[in-house]
Amino acid sequence: TAYGFTRVGEGEKQEKVNDVFHSVARRYDIMNDLMSMGVHRIWKTAMVSKVNPPKRPGWKSLDMAGGTGDIAFRIIEASHRNAHVTVSDINSSMLAEGEERAHKNGLIDNCDFVEANAEELPFEDNSFDAYTIAFGIRNVPRMDHALSEAYRVLKPGGQFLCLEFSEVDVPFLERFYEEWSFRAIPPIGKMVTGDAESYQYLVESIRKFPNQKRFASFISEAGFSRVDYRNMTGGIAALHTGWKV
Ligand code: SAM
Repeated sequence: TAYGFTRVGEGEKQEKVNDVFHSVARRYDIMNDLMSMGVHRIWKTAMVSKVNPPKRPGWKSLDMAGGTGDIAFRIIEASHRNAHVTVSDINSSMLAEGEERAHKNGLIDNCDFVEANAEELPFEDNSFDAYTIAFGIRNVPRMDHALSEAYRVLKPGGQFLCLEFSEVDVPFLERFYEEWSFRAIPPIGKMVTGDAESYQYLVESIRKFPNQKRFASFISEAGFSRVDYRNMTGGIAALHTGWKV
């Protein structure tokens, strides 16, 4: 396969992922804060400042694997409530949670919610000014399909941005991170959601994900230009970017 991942059991993998997010949807946001000790907020802020949406109407982006809308809401606020963001996710429970939040925070007019698989998008070619995916692509079984679809739906001149867990390059941080991932995250997951196994699975999926350089090469293979990445918190996460020219 293109990424050296086994293609057997792709359906099972997606099912497992779906189960995880159906079971955590209600508590997803608090889980994020607990498990990342709040740091995911800093990473997301960095992503949104890189998106840098214009403060005028007419600009639109797609937040894929958008879950409960975190990235979308931040983009809309950064545009002074001018941008339109389509939040798309394979999981209806996560989207329902996001839609409820959008009503509560008064941003519903700036977004819409579309249930879809990142591997096969129900959007026209050349539709969006930006495509964002935060902590989502790791869960998609056929990542190459997701990247080609991102390329297809972006307008020429559009930007691709992907935030994902990556390879830690600071030794002391690496040790702490390993301990945290394997000892703290599953029990926290169990405490909040009653389900430790799901989180064990997510921790393992982080380990299997390609490192910064490799993932950057996949983005290039999908057709993107000026592919680049920036490490966050010593590489615990990385922000990958590319352009459709
Ligand atoms: N982007 C949000 C954030 O950063 O808070 C949510 C990230 S959450 C860790 C991962 C999301 O990916 C889940 O909502 C899950 O349903 C979604 N997902 C998993 N597989 C997907 C697929 N094949 N297509 C679209 N979304 C998918």
